[in-house]
Amino acid sequence: MSDLTRLTAAETASAIASREVSAVEVAQAHLDRIAKVDGQVHAFLHVDAEGALAQARRVDDGELSGPLAGVPLALKDVLCQQDIPTTVGSKILEGWRPPYDATVTARLKAAGVVILGKTNMDEFAMGSSTEHSAYGPTHNPWDLTRIPGGSGGGSSAALASYQAPLAIGTDTGGSIRQPASVTGTVGVKPTYGGVSRYGLVAFSSSLDQAGPCARTVLDAALLHEVIAGYDPRDSTSINQPVPPVVAAARSGEVKGLRIGVVKELTGDGYEEGVQQRFDEAVAILQSLGAIVTEVSCPHFSYALTAYYLIAPSEASSNLARFDAVRYGLRVGDDGERSLEEVTALTRGQGFGAEVKRRIILGTYALSSGYYDAYYGQAQKVRTLITRDFQKAWESVDVLVAPTCPTVAFPLGAKLEDPLAMYKQDICSIPSNLYGGPAASFPAGLSEGLPVGLQVMAPTLREDLLYQVGAALERALPAAVPPLAWEN
Ligand code: GLN
Repeated sequence: MSDLTRLTAAETASAIASREVSAVEVAQAHLDRIAKVDGQVHAFLHVDAEGALAQARRVDDGELSGPLAGVPLALKDVLCQQDIPTTVGSKILEGWRPPYDATVTARLKAAGVVILGKTNMDEFAMGSSTEHSAYGPTHNPWDLTRIPGGSGGGSSAALASYQAPLAIGTDTGGSIRQPASVTGTVGVKPTYGGVSRYGLVAFSSSLDQAGPCARTVLDAALLHEVIAGYDPRDSTSINQPVPPVVAAARSGEVKGLRIGVVKELTGDGYEEGVQQRFDEAVAILQSLGAIVTEVSCPHFSYALTAYYLIAPSEASSNLARFDAVRYGLRVGDDGERSLEEVTALTRGQGFGAEVKRRIILGTYALSSGYYDAYYGQAQKVRTLITRDFQKAWESVDVLVAPTCPTVAFPLGAKLEDPLAMYKQDICSIPSNLYGGPAASFPAGLSEGLPVGLQVMAPTLREDLLYQVGAALERALPAAVPPLAWEN
């Protein structure tokens, strides 16, 4: 069989099921690929060759089966995997090995998916470029001098460089969708509560959501069905059936679908090439029978501001657990210093600058005297954004916008300007605040770099995202990275 790393997940699974190839051969081909190219891409923080091959052997022995049995996957380092280092891209968790599996991890293992390793990310998932990782940035396979997006840039870069056909990301404010957009891959943020957060290291608990990443729409849907569904260990998990995403990905029917183009997510700051590819993608959907109108969501303009009060507020509380006692790093514990001093030293050295910025912002927003003016106001804006979505659903089935206002920018370009970095997520954040599902699908290239189309749907209507994604995928040529740097 030709290069096993170029197959889709669906093709890989069927080749393994029909014994054309063994799961061990597939795992080994990907481990070889990682050894060959990851020195340049830096998608992985940890590769678990032994664990991957052992799991592949179980698939070959018939102990594990299912639609994705034997398919390799890259796991974002924010999800716990028992006995495997889990750093969240931070020095504060360096060396920590979780004593348990996240529910997502457990479901992947039970489905026979082969976890190759843990992928790089911005520290605590705070960022849009992976440059805030304590372990150095990931490089975009389309152009190694550019960012792969963030915070889940390791996962998207692993896909685009054929180191894995599947990956898991998490999306608090765009961290699945923006990396998908800038690497020409597919990324889906499920409905909040649609995928368990048990074992997902918390950033902003009312927003965090894990989801599937892949090179094709069908592959993402197959992965979605493996990881989604009710989990009693997550109090915000939704006890309802998983939407029929695989059927939707296979159908790709958009005839009669009412698509609303968000009026507010365009204009200044949106690159011309991004806007052009977006307009063309919408025209394609229209030519396939979708009914396209413009919809105004007036409060979306305030989403970024509200997010940068709510997410840091929750982070300031969540990250208090890193106290130098319970997990990971401990600095200056010489028997002389007080617990308070050790905690302060550990947090001072263990957290990077962006994480500290968020903790300070959040602590300020929650402090007495400012709470109502900042956190309280932001929560009211969140409600208004939810109402914009609900009003939109009276006239359309889905909303669309660019995923991100730019293509992948050069590494370092926005590092000194936090606000410019935050603006990467101007289009993705409304769905996080609302809680409904949203996805990014490849929509062609601008100056040789990928552009993403974002689709947003009502809660638990992920099927609509996959329908639109599949329609677009069929109509457009596949986004294949040139990988000119490969020798
Ligand atoms: N870029 C956004 C942030 O820095 C979103 C991150 C995310 O979704 N985890 O907060």
